[in-house]
Amino acid sequence: MKNKYDVLIVGGGPAGAIAAKTAVEKGLSACIVEKRQAIGAPVRCAEGIGKEALLEFIEPDPRWISAEMTGATIVAPDGFVMKLSSEMAGSKVGYVLDRKFFDRELVWRAAEAGADVAVKARACAPIIENGVVKGAKVESGGKITNIRTHVVIAADGVESKFSKWCGIDTTVPVREIMSSVQYVMTDIEIDPTSTVFYLGNEVAPEGYLWVFPKGKRSANVGIGISGKKSGDGHRAKDYLDKFVKKTFPHGKVIEFIPGGVSVCRPLACTVADGLIITGDAARVVDPLTGGGIYNAMYTGRLAAEIAADCIGRGDVSKKALMAYDKAWRASKMGKAIERNYHIKEYLIKQPDTKLNEIIHSVSNINLKEFSTLTLIKEIIKVNPKLMLELGALAASLR
Ligand code: FAD
Repeated sequence: MKNKYDVLIVGGGPAGAIAAKTAVEKGLSACIVEKRQAIGAPVRCAEGIGKEALLEFIEPDPRWISAEMTGATIVAPDGFVMKLSSEMAGSKVGYVLDRKFFDRELVWRAAEAGADVAVKARACAPIIENGVVKGAKVESGGKITNIRTHVVIAADGVESKFSKWCGIDTTVPVREIMSSVQYVMTDIEIDPTSTVFYLGNEVAPEGYLWVFPKGKRSANVGIGISGKKSGDGHRAKDYLDKFVKKTFPHGKVIEFIPGGVSVCRPLACTVADGLIITGDAARVVDPLTGGGIYNAMYTGRLAAEIAADCIGRGDVSKKALMAYDKAWRASKMGKAIERNYHIKEYLIKQPDTKLNEIIHSVSNINLKEFSTLTLIKEIIKVNPKLMLELGALAASLR
């Protein structure tokens, strides 16, 4: 770790790793500082990602793929099972990763490309001069080092503090923090090729419960419920335990993973003078699915590209860096976040009877492509009344 880089990246998750790799490929000097002592651990993720989304960044490798998914199953509140298969969609589905190794692979690649990496190195304060972010104070082994940079890329995840220290409002309303708990379970009866989503206010209020296979008899079994629905006796873990007792009574829990997922809208602005905010820190998780790995990598790459361009032109002002903010909002990813935010807001207000009705109505659909958008479009096609209920949003789904 040196005292000066073109770009300093706070956080060694997918956003930070891709940002660092892209930055060095663009000819910049870059360093990732990661506060944990190991990249990728502990895992706080169900580890699901779409095949095409992954391929945009990296070729799949059996060393960090736990399982390949060829289908998805949705279980309605009344127990009705709807199956979606890749044959039906005619497109590929996805993977369940092993993020301990996946995150490491991404950081290795950044390091191989020329980025510096420091673990157990925590950014503890920004260096700000005349209102411009000029680097960070980094604490490592009891020593504080001032690292000066042209641009800091904040990739410090859902619990991000860096941008807040730079004066940006990063507050997430309690109701839009999904309180999540996950067990890695083994010795359970599952379909090892399909993800399963359980919906309903009795199962996971304003959220969902998931079973993401990690092998023939093991899976990530987790739940996310709205923070506002959580309280004594009805916390995420209570719901999960109830489900596990009923569904996998003989299964064994080999890992317990608590965590939070923001399902709010992204930050109002994701740049400041000398600063770009990416991934979960920018609140770019898909508000409907809670998926954030792809969005983190997407914004990480874009952040480094724009940083390189602005550094090259000698202008890292907020105005210049706004190109990043505008680009991701205008992208397919940005539009999906906005659209899925509205759909999430609609769905969480529906009683179980309505959710049953919706899921029953699409039990025989034939998806052209395996995506949330095509599923929503099919739902609307067979439930034209939903167009009115969704109001202005419906137009964007046509
Ligand atoms: P992170 O992966 O969180 O990385 C941020 C890093 O920054 C961390 O390593 C942290 O230690 C480090 N850091 C923080 N502060 C500092 C500091 N001051 N100094 C130095 N380092 C710092 N997404 C999916 O796509 N699919 C899923 O199936 C899925 N399931 C999920 C299940 C759960 C229970 C949870 C909690 C999340 C899930 N997500 C899922 C979301 C996904 O995990 C995140 O969107 C993704 O990890 C975001 O990547 P990131 O790089 O932005 O942040």
